[in-house]
Parts: sequence; C-alpha cells; structure tokens
Amino acid sequence: MAAKIIDGKALAAEIKEEVRREVAAMTAAGRPAPCLAVILVGEDPASKVYVNNKKKACEACGIRSREILLPADTTEEALLEEIRRLNADETVDGVLCQLPVPPQIDKMRVIETVSPEKDVDGFHPLTVGRMVADRPGFLPCTPAGIIELLKSAGVDPDGKNAAVVGRSNIVGKPVSTLLMRANATVTVCHTHTRDLKAETRRADIVIAAAGVPQMITSDMIKPGAAVIDVGIHRRPDGGLWGDVVFDEVSQIAGAITPVPGGVGPMTVAMLMKNTLRAAAQRRAAQVKGNN
Ligand code: NAD
Repeated sequence: MAAKIIDGKALAAEIKEEVRREVAAMTAAGRPAPCLAVILVGEDPASKVYVNNKKKACEACGIRSREILLPADTTEEALLEEIRRLNADETVDGVLCQLPVPPQIDKMRVIETVSPEKDVDGFHPLTVGRMVADRPGFLPCTPAGIIELLKSAGVDPDGKNAAVVGRSNIVGKPVSTLLMRANATVTVCHTHTRDLKAETRRADIVIAAAGVPQMITSDMIKPGAAVIDVGIHRRPDGGLWGDVVFDEVSQIAGAITPVPGGVGPMTVAMLMKNTLRAAAQRRAAQVKGNN
C-alpha cells in the first residue's frame, strides 16, 4: 500500500495563519509587530532563495522584516559588528545570519554573537544547551518542524525506534535530541556507521538528513515506517531531489514527506513562530521592566 504523503506545505500554511492571527492581536493591542532581521553575506543563489522565502513568510504573517545584504568580501569583524548593532536595536526581535558564510568568516563566532534572546534560528550554544537540558527556549526550526510533521501524520515517537541519518549541528543532532525528548529510542547514523541499512531497517521513524541525493532506497526501510526527507538538492533539470528515492520508498513506508513540499516550508513556518515568541517575550520583559 502506498504511504500517506505528509503535506508540509499545508501544515506550514496553518502554522503561519496561527502566527498571523497572534501578530494581529499584538498590533491590535497597540504593541508593535515582531521584527526579524536577516543578514545575507555574498551572492550564494540558494541562500538568496532562502532569504527571499523568509521575507515572503514574514509578509504573510504581518511580521516586519529587515534584510541586511553584505558583500562577499565582508570581514568577520564587520559582520559581528552588524550583529551586535541588531542585538542592541530595540525595534528588532529576531536576528539571524543566513548560512553558509564566506570562508574568511568563522560560522561559530557568528552564531555565538547573536543575542540568545533574539536567537530565532536556535543555533546559539546557550539555546542548544537549554534544549538538551529540557529547559524552555527556542527550538531550531528544521528539527522542530520535523516533530510537527510527525505529529500531524499521527506518528507518536514514544517507544518507537528512530534512525537519524546525519549528525550535523543544524539537523541531525538537534532532531535526535527532540526525538529522545519525545521518548523515542534514537540511533544517530553518520559517515562512520558500519551498516547503515541495518540501522534504518530497524527504525519505525527514519529522518534522512545526510545531504546525499537519493541515498535512501526502499530496501533500507521497514514496511510501514515514517520517513522524513530533509535533503534538498538541485536536479540537473532544475527540479528538486531529496535524500530519499520518493517513488520507491513511498511504496513501502507508512508515511513520507515529499521534496519539495515537506520539511522545507515547515522550517520557515517554525522561524515565524520563533520570531513571534521572541517578540512576545521581549514585550513581556519590557512591561515587567516598566513596573
Ligand atoms: P551536513 O553536510 O552538515 O551534515 C550531513 C551529515 O550526514 C553529516 O553528519 C554526515 O556524517 C552524514 N552523512 C553524510 N553522508 C552520509 C552517508 N553516506 N551515510 C551516513 N551519513 C552520512 O548537512 P546538513 O546541514 O545537516 O543538511 C543535510 C541536508 O538537509 C542537506 O541536503 C541540506 O540541504 C538539507 N537541509 C534542509 C533544510 C530544510 O529546511 N529542508 C534545512 C537544513 C538542511
């Protein structure tokens, strides 16, 4: 039987609509709409598309967005100074720098310079620490979106075996943490995993985040498993590929996300949610400070 297709685009639209309503309530109460500042360094075409998608999502939600475009030869110090300026700007609630950054810039220094109160990407080590320690805080957008996709498909990770393929700071590690928090038994696979197929075949939930086009085939999937495809790869014909061979895996899996229309739109929707949350927290702190 063919798998249930998990519609990330529709779920993302619902989440953005919820955010839009809350933003409208915020402005109706006389408070300023949330504001997201996005820095883009250089001309990477994929990054430009991502930044534009974020801008469009902000518009749809009533969130103000500020785009800061810096040339590819920007020095690390100049970029960090821009981030510090946005951290100090009372009219800005969320700050992010689109990755990757050019080679003269240390990505970790960029991430560590964003104020944790405005860390809507959820990449700052303090934010990551809060997540790992089960403390309240921003959740990174793609992993949080993956958990929402599973929920929407009626897949409760509690007691299930989950295999995460990939251990990056942005996807693999945090989604493993969130699955563990949801009571799954999690196996994290990576380039040193001896028998990847054996690991994925045991899993009720497979998160494909290796960044290798079309690497997950139907013989690697247990019948009925939920498969979330995080990969995004440009095809020679201009279309998109995921890490999963959708046509064959969808014949075996119980539920599967498509590419495009799966994880991608959810990442942006969760960013909108985090920006709203950052604004609400900052407004609440300001009221407290004025009392
Ligand atoms: P990354 O390159 O930082 O990490 C890839 C991970 O996969 C590494 O930990 C590596 O050990 C593992 N890996 C690579 N080849 C493997 C193999 N053959 N077998 C087992 N493990 C292997 O990538 P990333 O930033 O985590 O992104 C992964 C993919 O997800 C990319 O295609 C990226 O474009 C995509 N992505 C999509 C979204 C979205 O919103 N949809 C967000 C972030 C990343």
